[in-house]
Amino acid sequence: MPASTDAYQQLLALSREASLLGATSALLAWDQETYMPGGAGERRAEQLELMATLGHERATDPRIGEWLTSCTATPGDDEQQAAVREMQRDYDRATRLPTALVAELAATESRAQQAWGTARTASDFAQFLPWLEKIVALQQQKADCLKHDGQSRWDALADMYEPGMRADTLRTLFAPLRQSLVALRQQLDAGTRPAETFKKREIAEPRQESFVHAIVAAMGFDFQRGRIDRSAHPFCISIGGDVRLTTRFHKDNVLDALGSTMHEGGHGLYEQGLPSKHFGSPLGEAVSLGIHESQSRLWENHVGRSRAFWQWCMPHAQQHLGGACDEQDAQSLYALCNLVSPDLIRVEADEATYDLHVMVRFEIEQALMAGDLLAKDLPARWNELYLDYLGVTVPDDRRGCLQDVHWSCGLFGYFPTYTMGNLYAAQFAAKADEALGGLDALMQAGDFAPLREWLHDNVHCHGRRYSPAELCERATGAPLSSEHFINYLTRKLHDVYAIA
Ligand code: ZN
Repeated sequence: MPASTDAYQQLLALSREASLLGATSALLAWDQETYMPGGAGERRAEQLELMATLGHERATDPRIGEWLTSCTATPGDDEQQAAVREMQRDYDRATRLPTALVAELAATESRAQQAWGTARTASDFAQFLPWLEKIVALQQQKADCLKHDGQSRWDALADMYEPGMRADTLRTLFAPLRQSLVALRQQLDAGTRPAETFKKREIAEPRQESFVHAIVAAMGFDFQRGRIDRSAHPFCISIGGDVRLTTRFHKDNVLDALGSTMHEGGHGLYEQGLPSKHFGSPLGEAVSLGIHESQSRLWENHVGRSRAFWQWCMPHAQQHLGGACDEQDAQSLYALCNLVSPDLIRVEADEATYDLHVMVRFEIEQALMAGDLLAKDLPARWNELYLDYLGVTVPDDRRGCLQDVHWSCGLFGYFPTYTMGNLYAAQFAAKADEALGGLDALMQAGDFAPLREWLHDNVHCHGRRYSPAELCERATGAPLSSEHFINYLTRKLHDVYAIA
């Protein structure tokens, strides 16, 4: 066996161990968010910390560097080259960060997150400020360790979530998007706002639950390799091919439960669609957060908020939800789930304003990382941008700059992946529509398999074989743009608001 083949096998074996450790941590984390009794928190934190340490030891094992050198000297086939390229990327990132900084980041972020929780409840930014200052300083240090090839600090951090993404590229994507979204919102003022009669109707939880389960089953989620439970904030986590979704129910908002479950279901289909033969290799992993989010948004919005979907779904809704659906029809529910209302909270935002919330955060975190904005000036800048981008006045910091957990746990460069997900989703949906001869007819018939298979063949099955940008070009024939998203949303909202 040539030395490089041997080295590659060693790399795969170690990478598989790291994946098994990651999957075990995921199970601990899933349990913590779903069924763990409150008194188990301290010990669980220790368990998770130990798993993280073991994972980091494997990720930075100096033998990896030697094996990678050997593999690069004698490249194998295409698959092997792609896996080695991604392993090199992971190894470089893990070893660029000094262990002391990693430990300080972990300790600070865990405490800062708790301080953020208290400050948010009290709507008291001053309480959180010392922690934010510390977090920003540490993230700047982290970015300075990671940045290479002309990246800015922000670029270096964003690269962890969306490989290859740079702020310059995003600014080019976001500028026309912002203009179009603002113009679209103004056009809607001249249209007819859909009635909101169904919105506050109370429906028993077991009925809501059987309804959303039926929809996720129709999407093709495999319950032999996954399950749905409940948590305060819905999420999807993979325990190595076994995919756990969570959702939540409000007694008077079944559309929220449906949207959340279809969203997490889309993430789940991606995880279930990753090639299991490559488990433990980068080729068996999701490529980026933006691509991941495209899968959830596609099912949540392009499917679940389409007229064609509701034409199929209405009898199922009536069957599961009972009398609550009396006097409703497909058109009224389709219109209702596409209502647009500029507001303060990102996670409650509609499709026409969501990305404006993201752009506010994108502006601010670039300035914080570059040192152009001081942490103490965050609330003022936040409120100013909300007025400018969304036309809303922020009444307090709880509903302003303290609303998201991300920055308190050190996630800078993360928010734009949500908007990229929306853009990728629209571009994938347009291509799938063309390739499958029209998605509407399939959705009206409740035939979701062709769409799921198209996504599998063009996105899921590749793992990290291609970069996100390459994957987009291969799947759709073009680089990512905001054009498909703008067209899709304009068409739909003009229809919902009866604008000629
Ligand atoms: Zn998501």
